[in-house]
Amino acid sequence: MLSIKNLHARVEDKTILKGLNLDVKPGEVHAIMGPNGAGKSTLGYVLSGRDGYEVEQGSAELDGHSLFDMETEERARAGLFLAFQYPVEIPGVSNMEFLKASVDAVREARGDSALSSAEFLKLARVVCKQVNLPVEFLKRGVNEGFSGGEKKRNEIMQMILLAPRLCILDETDSGLDIDALKVVADGVNSQRSSDRGFVVVTHYQRLLDYIKPDFVHVLSDGKIVKSGGPELAKELEAQGYSWLADHPDEVP
Ligand code: ADP
Ligand code: MG
Ligand code: MG
Repeated sequence: MLSIKNLHARVEDKTILKGLNLDVKPGEVHAIMGPNGAGKSTLGYVLSGRDGYEVEQGSAELDGHSLFDMETEERARAGLFLAFQYPVEIPGVSNMEFLKASVDAVREARGDSALSSAEFLKLARVVCKQVNLPVEFLKRGVNEGFSGGEKKRNEIMQMILLAPRLCILDETDSGLDIDALKVVADGVNSQRSSDRGFVVVTHYQRLLDYIKPDFVHVLSDGKIVKSGGPELAKELEAQGYSWLADHPDEVP
């Protein structure tokens, strides 16, 4: 479903990703861990098509379609969803308008008809409840004045409404409290399905107590240097990344 091959990418003058390979099949949850500055967030930005991030070499395909040949909006319509650590605030645009416009665009791309305002409101209320966000948040400006935890809930709400094919969540380095971690974990767990994949980027093993990944990868200096099952995350938590660098073959 997602196939990244030999990806090299740079920010400004600096090459950050140096030959990254990753394959995600439908139904799988992959965790990407790794030391600070390894390029984890860069990977998300490159896949999303953020300005300033340039692909030097390699490919990334979603369901056989090259992501790098698409505009950012087209990637979303193709079923790619990215959640970043700091969601943007859009004052003046109501959360409801924003969510509906996003959902309408994705439905249109799938050949589904647009939902009426009443239909969408009904759906949005159900999802608000699911992520434990009061319905009043639908009327507020997008993320405007939302607390960190509320932004997280809102982001997960967006993910659930969009029903993407592939979700990439970057939770790295964040001071997410345990409640926010659980919101993310519950959101992912409730949306796990045989036709959807997840890539969860996390600096700490803690999140993986709630989301049980099928695969764990270690990203270091722009490449995946080690892959394994959930036990790899535990081992890293116990031993640290520097130990991995010294003993690359001793990690299970
Ligand atoms: P991680 O998410 O794994 O901690 P990042 O992807 O955020 O790592 O960063 C990888 C490297 O890219 C770091 O060395 C960081 O300083 C560098 N970097 C990120 N953004 C920029 C930028 N806009 N200009 C120059 N270097 C950057
Ligand atoms: Mg970082
Ligand atoms: Mg990061």
